[in-house]
Amino acid sequence: MLNFEIKERIPNALGRAGIIKTTHGDIETPAFIPVGTKATVKALTPEQVREYVGAQAFLANTYHLYLQPGMDIMRASGGLRKFMNWPGPTFTDSGGFQAFSLGNVSGKRKSKFGVVDETISNGGQANTYSSWTRPLVPPLRRDSGLLLGLGLLTSASEMSKRSKYSPAQEENDITNSMAKIDDAGVTFKSVIDGSTHHFSPEKSIDIQVAIGADIIFVLDECAPPDADREYQMRALERTAMWAEHSLEYWKKTKRADPNNYQSLFGIIQGGRYEDLRKLSAETIGKMDFDGFGIGGTFDKGDVSKAVNVVCQELPEGKPRHLLGIGELEDMIMAIENGIDTFDCVAPTRIARNGSAYISGGKRINILNAPFRNDFAPVDEKCSCYTCMNYSRAYIAHLFRAKEMLGATLLSIHNLHFVVDFVAKARRAIVEGDFSHFKDDFLKSLHS
Ligand SMILES: [Zn+2]
Repeated sequence: MLNFEIKERIPNALGRAGIIKTTHGDIETPAFIPVGTKATVKALTPEQVREYVGAQAFLANTYHLYLQPGMDIMRASGGLRKFMNWPGPTFTDSGGFQAFSLGNVSGKRKSKFGVVDETISNGGQANTYSSWTRPLVPPLRRDSGLLLGLGLLTSASEMSKRSKYSPAQEENDITNSMAKIDDAGVTFKSVIDGSTHHFSPEKSIDIQVAIGADIIFVLDECAPPDADREYQMRALERTAMWAEHSLEYWKKTKRADPNNYQSLFGIIQGGRYEDLRKLSAETIGKMDFDGFGIGGTFDKGDVSKAVNVVCQELPEGKPRHLLGIGELEDMIMAIENGIDTFDCVAPTRIARNGSAYISGGKRINILNAPFRNDFAPVDEKCSCYTCMNYSRAYIAHLFRAKEMLGATLLSIHNLHFVVDFVAKARRAIVEGDFSHFKDDFLKSLHS
């Protein structure tokens, strides 16, 4: 089992400070986990990520490593940590999100709607995403046993109403669609060469075993952010089924090695629908996972309630990871409502565009004219390597001269800023002062 200790709680809230103990080191939580998509946090050496950023762990991406360098190389390398000289804990996602969202970009025209492609389905059960936009509603399975069992689909008339979906609504050429989902998994095209691949729940685990991260996630169906309720229900049902298969497979085959224990996290879905998120958390939360990831897209300002509803249903003694949240305000709200770890590409992505966080949570863009002769650090109050040694003017010069060191220096600053921000939130929880920390931050952010 993964060892997770709760050290202190936020009074009258679900938030907590704790320690996740992995085979390769501890993670003090709450913690921000930088993203190293292709076994590298972009523009930084692993040593910089550890020493200058202060990151305790990072999250790599299964989809990208599967396609490049591929599983043979990953196995031969001895795993992610050896391959990239990172001594600490690591996470990998399941690869599902990218398979769904990137599976359609191999040079063909994107169509506006997802369509139901009966020809590749098992009994008409496939969903097809042709772009990350609103899908049409696919026909529900006749044997939607799980949802029926959960009381979600109670009436036969409701079922038959749903099954009246007509393919005549389809207006797109289905050959444009590159990511296809059925009960067996997701079939998608490589972003690198357009070749076709398939992820099943079991295969996602096999790939993540080859990569060898300490914390790995089950394959889930990531419905497009604006998918409607019926689509979300189907995605939720499939996600629950895949979770069961993953857990079974994991227990049978991979779980026994105490020297290289990989923790399997289930994933909660449900899109924007509160009751579906709650249902997903109830269902997945009962399964014997080491921890849980919360996926999906949230409306602005919706994070605290969405996370609260889910965390109320999850077992208290297991860690919870929020996938892909990068706004500081959202992080504070998520921490208060019971999230232990986050990952997001935002700090490094915006850094490469010249954007930097400053104290109070606002941002500056280093390419703005006044910074050309501004010899102050990026942020006066920041103690990072970049701010201790370099000026805004120097970094502005590097960006204007298209020198890659500019992206490196700003990535160090932004990642340090976010990692440190979450570490301060942790300290505030431990010292019983979280509500002040939160109020002060929100005041300065909105001033
Ligand atoms: Zn700094």
